[in-house]
Amino acid sequence: MRAVDVIMKKRNGGALDRDEIRFFVDGVTAGTLPDYQASALLMAILLRGMNADETAWLTNAMVHSGVRVDLRDIPGVKVDKHSTGGVGDKTSLILAPLAAACGVPVPMMSGRGLGHTGGTLDKLESIPGFRVDLSLEEMKAALARTRCAMIGQTSQIAPADKRLYALRDVTATVESIPLISASIMSKKIAEGIDALVLDVKTGSGAFMKTEADSRRLAESLVSIGNASGVKTEAVITAMDSPLGRAVGNALEVVECLDVLKGGGPQDLVDVSVELASRMLVLGQVADDIGDAEQQVRRAIRSGAGLERFRQIIENQGGDPRVVDDYARMPSVPGRHLVPADRRGYVTQLDGATRSAPATPCSRSITAIAAASTRRCNWCPARSQLATSRQPSGA
Ligand code: URA
Repeated sequence: MRAVDVIMKKRNGGALDRDEIRFFVDGVTAGTLPDYQASALLMAILLRGMNADETAWLTNAMVHSGVRVDLRDIPGVKVDKHSTGGVGDKTSLILAPLAAACGVPVPMMSGRGLGHTGGTLDKLESIPGFRVDLSLEEMKAALARTRCAMIGQTSQIAPADKRLYALRDVTATVESIPLISASIMSKKIAEGIDALVLDVKTGSGAFMKTEADSRRLAESLVSIGNASGVKTEAVITAMDSPLGRAVGNALEVVECLDVLKGGGPQDLVDVSVELASRMLVLGQVADDIGDAEQQVRRAIRSGAGLERFRQIIENQGGDPRVVDDYARMPSVPGRHLVPADRRGYVTQLDGATRSAPATPCSRSITAIAAASTRRCNWCPARSQLATSRQPSGA
């Protein structure tokens, strides 16, 4: 089989068969398929799409590019949550400790920033000392100790996705329903979970701009998960403006700590409680969504969620003192205040992507979000933006 023929077939709108998809994924995994051919096929998939069979085969081939973890010796129904990506989307840092505190084992395997969206790993790494590179054995030990592990994709988990994710990030091939579906679900199926809650973002700051596309993505993700034995649910949530007030890794961690202490912006609290509650129902520690919500809110009020986050930080090598002393988090050396030039209400904070028309506000958020989610020397994980007001409908 020749890569050029597979690329041409998809470029011309054909449907790939299982062998052609496996050939592509095997070549990506082994490093025998050059980046230019992998990128060309990614672009052809983005432009021409894939049917449900192709998407399922792609996911399956990506799962089998690595190992499928066996977590059966960890008691309980193991539940993870994954977001399709947003700006200021920091709910994982809130709901993972809350669900764990309520009795759900949470093996959370997250990603780094993709396109204009932030990544959970980058946020966690802004906590001094926090290690996301746990081995699978360390992950199991963390689950046994704190009922939660927040880690990055190990080299054994869907290695094909790791390479494709990096290529998609720099070739404008992120916004594709089959590629997003296979990327997310291959990792989630491989990590050995029993159930999954998906937060499918919709709006100007999301990869899916319309509700119809978001629904199609949600349906694709849910059907792949359920067909693979992972009980999967999806919630579609708004991403027309950043979630909460903070964009930037360290500031976002602080905002999560505020929520776990009973404060924080209402939109962030609402989405976090909704997703955590669904995890409790799927994890079979709550009878229904009402019971689950009560348990989650109780875990916030009692401080159990906060305590659990402190334990997770300590267990993964981070400095747990940040929980009480935000000055221990990295911060920027200077501040630049942008005062409003007239009185009024903020009615919209555009979380727009690079391809959308950018207002000064969306441009700065996007630039800062991008800068603060890259792991590089010149843009420390400290660049951030906080708004003193959230958009009000007024
Ligand atoms: N998150 C992922 O892991 N992959 C995507 O393609 C998008 C969001």
